[in-house]
Amino acid sequence: MKGLPLTPDHYSSLRINFHHRYLRAIIHRIGVVRTTAALSIVAFVLCSAIMIPINLITHGSLFTGFVVTLVVCTTFVPWHTYELGRLLSELEHVTNALYATSITDELTKAYNRRYFLSALSAAIPEHRSSRRPLAVLLLDIDHFKQINDTYGHDAGDVVLQGFVALCQAHLRLGDLLARYGGEEFICLLPDTTAEQAQAVAERLRAIAAQTPIPHGQQAISLTVSIGVKATPVIEQQIPDSFLLAADHALYQAKRAGRNTVIFAGER
Ligand code: GH3
Ligand code: MG
Ligand code: MG
Repeated sequence: MKGLPLTPDHYSSLRINFHHRYLRAIIHRIGVVRTTAALSIVAFVLCSAIMIPINLITHGSLFTGFVVTLVVCTTFVPWHTYELGRLLSELEHVTNALYATSITDELTKAYNRRYFLSALSAAIPEHRSSRRPLAVLLLDIDHFKQINDTYGHDAGDVVLQGFVALCQAHLRLGDLLARYGGEEFICLLPDTTAEQAQAVAERLRAIAAQTPIPHGQQAISLTVSIGVKATPVIEQQIPDSFLLAADHALYQAKRAGRNTVIFAGER
């Protein structure tokens, strides 16, 4: 599994050179107009510092040199700087928007599978070096096809959105919930022991079963099956084996009759 970029800066740094990165940072801090004014003043001071000794050496007209410097620093420099600043600022907005789109599931606004895999790839080596526990929950809504068939596809979409909102309301800020596919979701729980992960999974399962999702005049009940994989520090742990174990546990939860939590392997 290949690590993916986790921040928009990764994208920008591919295209923006050192100089532009600094300019972008200044624009970010004080805005395009102030950056333009500041850089025009800097240009004026620099040009004057160069122009004065040259004029003294060449016995040129100090007044003419000063006028040329003033004209250039109040026309070309601000215009050019403002245009560049505006473009960099727009580029930053577009980069951020593209990045947000690239990591978000469009329907539920949870993270998408790609982001989850990149986060897991980053979390496992971190987990290995910090020796902190780590857990994954794989959640699959039970008989979701029946929900679609009974209430319609639109209602199914609302259920998916409602389910995500429900989970997010009961997870910690640092937990990462992603849509793994159709009606399947995955949750990365950092700093979470096996017992804690099992408790979180049980809580989510119970809350889902007790909280029908409103849709128009109706309230649609659902249940969820959950496979849990948690780990103490295992030196050779890799993302694929972690996910496979959670998937296997989910499969067992389905076979056990659904609306069930199954823990993968020994603790
Ligand atoms: P199980 O308990 O074994 O998981 O049964 P299930 O019906 O939940 O699973 P199955 O894989 O048979 O069906 C999943 C259904 O989810 C089929 C598919 O049409 C539906 N689905 C996938 N993505 C979406 C979506 O974005 N919106 C809606 N409304 N339905 C979706
Ligand atoms: Mg299902
Ligand atoms: Mg499924």
